[in-house]
Amino acid sequence: MKKVDVLVIGAGAAGCFSAIRASESFKEAKITILERSSKALAKVKISGGGRCNVTNVISEPAELSKHYPRGERFLKKAFYQFSSNDMKAWLEQRNIPLKLYPDGCYFPVSNDSQTIIDCFLNEIRKNGIELLLNQRVESVRKLDSGMFEVTTPEMVFQAAKVILTTGGQPKISGFELLKSFDLKIVAPVPSLFTFNMPDESVKELMGIVQENASVKIVGQKWSSNGPLLITHWGMSGPAVLKCSAFGARILEEKQYRSKIAVNWTGEESQETVRETIRDFVQSNKLVANSPLYEIKTRLWNYLTEKAGIPAQFKCSELTAKHQNKLLEVLMNDLYSMEGKTTFKEEFVTAGGIDLNEIHVQTMESKKYPGLFFAGEVMDIDGVTGGFNFQAAWTTAAIAGKHVLQNN
Ligand SMILES: Cc1cc2nc3c(=O)[nH]c(=O)nc-3n(C[C@H](O)[C@H](O)[C@H](O)COP(=O)(O)OP(=O)(O)OC[C@H]3O[C@@H](n4cnc5c(N)ncnc54)[C@H](O)[C@@H]3O)c2cc1C
Repeated sequence: MKKVDVLVIGAGAAGCFSAIRASESFKEAKITILERSSKALAKVKISGGGRCNVTNVISEPAELSKHYPRGERFLKKAFYQFSSNDMKAWLEQRNIPLKLYPDGCYFPVSNDSQTIIDCFLNEIRKNGIELLLNQRVESVRKLDSGMFEVTTPEMVFQAAKVILTTGGQPKISGFELLKSFDLKIVAPVPSLFTFNMPDESVKELMGIVQENASVKIVGQKWSSNGPLLITHWGMSGPAVLKCSAFGARILEEKQYRSKIAVNWTGEESQETVRETIRDFVQSNKLVANSPLYEIKTRLWNYLTEKAGIPAQFKCSELTAKHQNKLLEVLMNDLYSMEGKTTFKEEFVTAGGIDLNEIHVQTMESKKYPGLFFAGEVMDIDGVTGGFNFQAAWTTAAIAGKHVLQNN
C-alpha cells in the first residue's frame, strides 16, 4: 500500500494541470497521477487536428461562460479565479507563445499539440510529481480515518485528498469507480455533432458555406449563429455544432429526428429582410444574378426555386406572394434532420457529476470533503473554439490551488 498526499485520477488536460497547480501551491506535497492508458494527455495530442486549440480570446467571465451549454452559471464564478488570459500567461511564462486566429481561437505558435504536452510533462518532472501509467482505477472509497483508498488491479493507494479527472464518459458505467459515494450523476449524452439529412436535396450543394447563418431546432426559442457548411450528408459548420451542443438533450430525446430551421440571412428582424426584398424588387436584373446576403449563386438558385420563383424572372417581376415566400425561405427554411454524425475534429460528452454536488470556489465535493473534481468528468461542456480545454484548465487550477488548503 502506498501513501500520498494527493492522488489525481486521470492524466488528461485537467489531471495534469491540477497536479501541477497543486505542486506549485504546496511544494512539499507528495502528488501522484494515475492514468489507465499507456500515455498521458492523449486527447491533447489529437486535439484541434493535432494543433491543440488551447483556449479562446474571450476572457471576461460573463461573456466566456456563455459558450457552455452545460455549466454556464458555475463556470462564470470559476472564471473569476482563473480565466483564459491566466492560462495564456501561464503558458507564456513557460516559453509557449500562443497565436490568435481571426475566429478568436488560440493555438501554440508551433502549431503542434506536442508543444503543450512537452510543457506539461516537463512541469510534472520538475515539480517531482509521480506519473504512473497503465493504472486503471477500479474503486475509490473513503475510510473511517478520513483518508481515501484507491485501487487499481495491481496497487492500493491511500491518499489524504483525491482529484477526480477521468474526463467525459459516454456511458453511465464510466462512473462505476465512484459507486461507494452517493453522488448525483447527470446521464451522459453526446454533444458537438453534425446533422444528417438523407432526404434533403440541399446535400447536392455540398461544400457551400454560408458565412453568417443561424440554425434553430423547431419549437425551441433560441438559435445558433455562425458559418454553416453544407456537406454530402447534411449540414455542419460552427452554427450547426453550436446548435447540437445547446440542443444535445432535446435532440437525444427526439432520437435525432427533428425539423431544423435555417435563417440564411443572419438577420433577426423580419422587417429588415422585408425591406431588403422591397429594394431588391426595384431592380431590373435577373433574380439569378442578384443573390442577397452574400449567398453563393448555386445556393441562391436552389433557394429561389424553393420559393417558387421562375429561373428567368427579373427581380422587378416578383409578385407579393413571391416576396413573402422568398422571405420565408431566407429566414425560416425547414429541413428534416434524421440522425447525427460525430464531428471528427472535436467531440465532447454532455453530462457527468452534477454541479450541485461541487463547491465552485474549491471544486471540492459538498458531501465528501477531500474529494475534488476537475474537467469534463463534471456536467460541463462547451462549444468548439478552445472552450472545452479552458473549462478543464479553470477547474483544474482551482482544484489544485485548494486541494491541501485545510491540511
Ligand atoms: C478529437 C478531439 C479533439 C478535440 N479538440 C479540442 C480542441 O482543440 N480544443 C478544446 O478546447 N477541446 C478539444 N477537445 C475536447 C477536449 O479534448 C476535452 O474537453 C478535454 O480533453 C477534457 O479534459 P479532461 O482532462 O477532463 O479529460 P480527458 O482529456 O479525457 O482525460 C481523462 C483521462 O482520464 C483517464 N482515465 C479515465 N478513466 C480512468 C480510470 N478509471 N483510471 C485511470 N485513468 C482514467 C483517461 O484515460 C484520460 O487520459 C477535443 C476532443 C476530441 C475528442
